[in-house]
Amino acid sequence: MTDLPEWPERYQSDLTDAEFDTLAVRAGQMRSPEGEHGEAMFLTSSYVFASAAEAAATFGGDRDGNVYSRYTNPTVRNFEERLAALEGGESCAATASGMAAIYAVCIAYLEAGDHMICSRAVFGSTNVLLEKFLRKFNVEITYVDLLNIDEWRGSVKDNTKLLFLESPSNPLNEVADIRALAELSKEANALLVVDNCFCTPAAQQPLKLGADLVIHSATKYIDGQGRCLGGAVVGSAELIDPVIGVLRSAGPTMSPFNAWVFLKGLETLSLRMREHSKNALKLAKWLQAQPTVTSVNYCGLPEHPQHELAKSQQKMFGGVLSFEVAGGREEAWKVVDATRMISITANLGDTKTTITHPGTTTHGRLTDEQRNVAGISQALVRISVGLEDIEDIKKDLARGLDLL
Ligand SMILES: *Cc1c(COP(=O)(O)O)cnc(C)c1O
Repeated sequence: MTDLPEWPERYQSDLTDAEFDTLAVRAGQMRSPEGEHGEAMFLTSSYVFASAAEAAATFGGDRDGNVYSRYTNPTVRNFEERLAALEGGESCAATASGMAAIYAVCIAYLEAGDHMICSRAVFGSTNVLLEKFLRKFNVEITYVDLLNIDEWRGSVKDNTKLLFLESPSNPLNEVADIRALAELSKEANALLVVDNCFCTPAAQQPLKLGADLVIHSATKYIDGQGRCLGGAVVGSAELIDPVIGVLRSAGPTMSPFNAWVFLKGLETLSLRMREHSKNALKLAKWLQAQPTVTSVNYCGLPEHPQHELAKSQQKMFGGVLSFEVAGGREEAWKVVDATRMISITANLGDTKTTITHPGTTTHGRLTDEQRNVAGISQALVRISVGLEDIEDIKKDLARGLDLL
């Protein structure tokens, strides 16, 4: 077995001043003695030591080194360093899924008697996690309108520890003022946590807008091709350390195989996000011109109420949009069912365009009144715009829209 060679200086380049697209391709790579050009995949659950003394020193923390892949794995670390660089964060903890990331943050930062404020429009499973499980541990949760800063401010209490949001929201594409909410969270002495799944760091870097922690479901755009589940939390080392503590003990860490797939995803993230955004804007404009479409929700449209805000905090507008058809559930279902290429699935952030009817799927468990408050009508259809030719996507949607 060979010792780790000292790679010449040209391979130890310091990327601190590198641009986003360079970091996406190169940040975090560590090269093994084999001299591989691409990132190696370390499929191993544990690691060996040279001696009992070395094992003792490593376990005791006196020596750096891997012990067990629930704690550290080189491929996972490679992914963590690359994503941290892209978000402009000091540290990153990779997780088994996006939900594991949210779970770990909640467990690390909330205890019985604490209070958190959450925007009403969050991912369905986030809602279940808070309502069904966090409440069991006597954590108090207040839901507020994503856009209403006064409501956020009015909900702050002495025991408020976390403010949690997604922006742009799903499926209405509402855009939160992250800078203003970061200021409020500082005043409240609470942490602002932003689920950045819809934008990815290619489009939005919440830490630079003042957020404390960023959450990812890597399952969506970071993979981008619908293969693996994963997630991550990014922030300062001080804030990420307790999250890592939860993950190492509870176990929902990222598998090295998935980390390797996500590393490859990060390399093309900007390219893909630019094309997703381009296709989404073209589709949004085309939908606006359809006589059977009554409204289009996409923050890239100049008519969108938070378009200027989106421009001030996002580099692009992303690939998810929604629209309402003339009529109700029956008409919306007609549009969904008439497609022949677009996939009927609630998943998003894929090269393949997907279509879903939120009122009877992702938001189907809500009562009519909850749906009304959330602004999700039965006429609403959501699209995650993929990378197919835009003319084919339009043609597929026209099949149903022309029937109405
Ligand atoms: C999918 C999703 C999640 C959950 O991620 P998983 O990887 O499915 O666990 C969280 N937040 C948002 C916004 C999502 O779209």
